[in-house]
Amino acid sequence: MGCCHHYDFVAGNESVFAVDPTALHFGPGVLRELGAEARALGLKRIALFTDVRIAELPALTAARTSLREADIDVVLYDEVRVEPTDASFEAAGRFAAEGKFDGFVSIGGGSVMDTCKAANLYSTHPADFLAYVNAPVGEGRAVPGPLKPHIACPTTSGTGSECTGIAVFDLLAQRVKTGIASRYLKPTLSLVDPTVTASLPANVVAASGFNVLSHALESYTAVPYTRRVAPQSPDLRPMSQGANPWSDVGCAEALRRTGEYLVRAVRDADDVEARHGMMFAATLAGIAFGNSGVHLPHGMAYSVAGLIRDYQPEGYPEDEPICPHGISVIVDAPSVFRFTAPADPGRHLEAAGYLGADLRDVGPEDAGEALAGHIVAMMRDTDMPNGLEAIGYGEADVAALAQGAYRQQRLLKNSPIEVGESELSDLYRGAARYW
Ligand SMILES: [Zn+2]
Repeated sequence: MGCCHHYDFVAGNESVFAVDPTALHFGPGVLRELGAEARALGLKRIALFTDVRIAELPALTAARTSLREADIDVVLYDEVRVEPTDASFEAAGRFAAEGKFDGFVSIGGGSVMDTCKAANLYSTHPADFLAYVNAPVGEGRAVPGPLKPHIACPTTSGTGSECTGIAVFDLLAQRVKTGIASRYLKPTLSLVDPTVTASLPANVVAASGFNVLSHALESYTAVPYTRRVAPQSPDLRPMSQGANPWSDVGCAEALRRTGEYLVRAVRDADDVEARHGMMFAATLAGIAFGNSGVHLPHGMAYSVAGLIRDYQPEGYPEDEPICPHGISVIVDAPSVFRFTAPADPGRHLEAAGYLGADLRDVGPEDAGEALAGHIVAMMRDTDMPNGLEAIGYGEADVAALAQGAYRQQRLLKNSPIEVGESELSDLYRGAARYW
């Protein structure tokens, strides 16, 4: 027996799960401690990554003041793209290599933190760009060793990137979203200051909040780590280990908080308890999915975002069509959880309960509907798009979407039910419209 029924041990399969957390300091005002923390890491000259919109915010001023007071030489890099690409990662890598920095600070959303991870990687261990990119899109070569210190300071409550070793980008030539994953990409320290969310537009809070919700749900329902064949040596154990007792703890608490706070945080920017609560939920979910991995909604989201034609949501830059990551994930999620529930109805019901669904008279056969229905109700309460049709996709796009998703093998392998292109096509059809 494993440590609980969900994790029964099987001969020859994995019996160990690893916990490699990022050091984390959380609370209002923690950004004022940035200079002292950078000093404590021995940093004297840092690259400060951010994007042009964040560069205007009080959070950045507080952080820069703190770095200046600690006598640290700061060079600003504010050319991060909102959805990074291989080109924007490479440009950041060149900047990092030329600057001869002894460490990095990122202040921003997932795009900023991910770009900083990539810049740190390619300037510390130079290689062809595709060398470290996940196979089969890239070579999937292992990162050879530790990077320079990186202090990550998230300004949205969604990605959890401050706790993960993952950097996601669009590979322009292949029109596919993919990433680089290595424990060495994890920031050295993350400073999470929930006061930075006060100025976020409602639609940004909603999109990033649903990203949190899906991180937690996908990690909680991922294939159990005990189903994976045991690695030949510990260094071959994947970072995305599958669901395990450690990630379950973070998921359950992230789901409870998301159920309690997401709709409130979207509707009322002055609801400090809700906005701070979502920030902590994002961090908890980040710790969980960085340890266990996400699956189908994220695998499907990559092609939804990558193939977008003319969608332009409120609260985002208006210079080009964009499907924010959280929206590309949540439009797929209800369809996915209807499909995966039979793999483990009890877990899906528990998750629905954590989110606050009314489970009276709901049996195991209704688990998928109970969970999907509750997510859909939350989407309606926060003005999220009504499925794929609402962001411009139709039946004619299903084949291309499914082909794109099928390339996300690293994520698909984490699904509790195996899928091929035909299952993915059906999942996209099921996501066309929800109400
Ligand atoms: Zn995500």
